[in-house]
Amino acid sequence: MHYLVTGTAGFIGFHLARRLLEDGHRVTGFDGLTPYYNLKLKEGRHAVLAQFPAFRPVIGMLEDREALNSACDHGQPDVMIHLAAQAGVRYSLENPRAYLDSNLLGSWNVLELAREVGVRHLMLASTSSVYGANESIPFSESDKTDEPLSFYAATKKSMELMAHTYAHLHRLPISAFRFFTVYGPWGRPDMALFKFVKAILEEQEIEIYGEGRMSRDFTYIDDLVNSIIDLSHVIPAEGNRVTANGVRDTLSHQGPFRVVNIGGGQPVSVLDFIETIEFVLGRKAKRKMLPMQQGDVPRTYASPDLLVALTGRKPEINLNAGVAAFVDWYVTHSRELQL
Ligand code: NAD
Repeated sequence: MHYLVTGTAGFIGFHLARRLLEDGHRVTGFDGLTPYYNLKLKEGRHAVLAQFPAFRPVIGMLEDREALNSACDHGQPDVMIHLAAQAGVRYSLENPRAYLDSNLLGSWNVLELAREVGVRHLMLASTSSVYGANESIPFSESDKTDEPLSFYAATKKSMELMAHTYAHLHRLPISAFRFFTVYGPWGRPDMALFKFVKAILEEQEIEIYGEGRMSRDFTYIDDLVNSIIDLSHVIPAEGNRVTANGVRDTLSHQGPFRVVNIGGGQPVSVLDFIETIEFVLGRKAKRKMLPMQQGDVPRTYASPDLLVALTGRKPEINLNAGVAAFVDWYVTHSRELQL
């Protein structure tokens, strides 16, 4: 199969593309190598993918239709997985424009390309942030998502809505996946695990917001990739809202569109997360307590019921093992990648 994956120089796109290539597929990887964080890390990821002859990188911005369309110059993809985005909750307070460009205009260009090509299945990366400060836990896909707390979440929810109309108007099978705090080797420097490990190893303070009482449903990258690959075979069927294993499906009545949480349903408080990192590193963190930041949601907690009903499994790697794998990678690569 030929996959077009956007965001292959990013954390998740890199892991997903590598797995697809290992499984013998062709992958065209589209990425703008944006300067949001360390470019050496992004180039390092693409350098690993370049070792596979079936990988073809295309460098360009999503907002540039011609650049994006050129990703299909060497053959039309069977499946598209759209992961490129301006990510990060906090940066969306400073630079909302980047989110409009990448996540709205960019995602619309992806929808247009998928429509023109007529792919079998388009998959999109959404986020647990769309649940805002929902108090009903765990979060089910049909819960309220119309009160986003950050502009990042607002653009991701808007992407879901645009995608629904494309599924409806053009009978294009689309799945939107809500990821829950993904972590692991080659992870993002703006995320807590990376920042905490780096600071603790460099004997710097770690900044803890909201007294560390926030909790997150951490998802290990290999589990996430397994879920995406499993779900790639579960193509939404138009207007056929079956309940799988008695679980309510989110298939739209109006078109081949479905939303699925990808999270294990085992939230951990930030303080417990830090204790796990301290245990793995065998070092104590210097804690600096700060008030809760605007835009942050108090908790994320996935209901994995639909994911399990559709794929038969859910994220299961435990936090200790996942943090240890990240630390191994970080220690091995921090000098070469200037992390
Ligand atoms: P990432 O920042 O590491 O990767 C995103 C990639 O997209 C980067 O390589 C960047 O260069 C590229 N990109 C950004 N804007 C672009 C544009 N306009 N044109 C072309 N390329 C562009 O992020 P990630 O953690 O790998 O996240 C992947 C997807 O998953 C994103 O859509 C993100 O919103 C979503 N997500 C991630 C998490 C998480 O915990 N990592 C959680 C929820 C949702």
